[in-house]
Amino acid sequence: MKKITIAIDGFSSCGKSTMAKDLAREIGYIYIDSGAMYRAVTLFAMEHGMFHGKEIDTGRLKEAMPGIRISFRLNPETGRPDTYLDGRNVEREIRSLEVSAHVSPIAALDFVRHALVAQQQAMGKEKGIVMDGRDIGTTVFPDAELKVFVTASPEIRAQRRYDELKAKGQEAGFDEILENVKQRDYIDQHRETSPLRKADDALLLDNSHLTIAQQKEWLKEQYLRVCEEGHTAGQPNTPQAHDSKD
Ligand code: C5P
Repeated sequence: MKKITIAIDGFSSCGKSTMAKDLAREIGYIYIDSGAMYRAVTLFAMEHGMFHGKEIDTGRLKEAMPGIRISFRLNPETGRPDTYLDGRNVEREIRSLEVSAHVSPIAALDFVRHALVAQQQAMGKEKGIVMDGRDIGTTVFPDAELKVFVTASPEIRAQRRYDELKAKGQEAGFDEILENVKQRDYIDQHRETSPLRKADDALLLDNSHLTIAQQKEWLKEQYLRVCEEGHTAGQPNTPQAHDSKD
């Protein structure tokens, strides 16, 4: 079957990565969590003392940016990719609430986005990739054959994040998490460069009341449909997605 590009965007903590990862594994595609790349740059900035309260030392970060190496390696225990920053496994650290609290202002910096988008586009050159984030269908892969925009209520997303952190033994209060989810939504939607928005040709998925199994099933169906449509139309690379909910 001809390989396609799958772009999954949406609000924070709405289960994008779970479904994206599992689909990629099932169909033998590469999976890239673009949020992990912004988180890794944030961790770098935190570790190098580039935050002064809410202010970021953008001059130093800009200078350091070309030398920051972010990569992914498959973890044989989890069967999922771990994030590496300059050769160090930072998968656990980048998921902390502290990194979550600092990541959106970093992701709003033009030079950071420019550098990371270029890396993401290089990773998807050969297609056969599932990437999730905020601007994948709009900026990174505007020609992706399958685009999905995922959403759910802030309270449900905060609850999912709370359960996830708790399961990992990282304690955090629900209210603090809800506040973080809302704050990130706001910054992501209102930044100047590539704000979070649904691409016109993306399918909308509100998964507030879906189980993980149901959303995985839905995504697989969309993938098969797009492949089938491309095949029967004789134009395997033409976007075929239509938004039924708009
Ligand atoms: O997906 P995740 O919540 O891990 O992403 C962390 C943050 O990185 C988001 O809140 C957003 O600010 C930023 N991000 C982005 N563009 C992407 C992916 C993530 O701006 N493509």
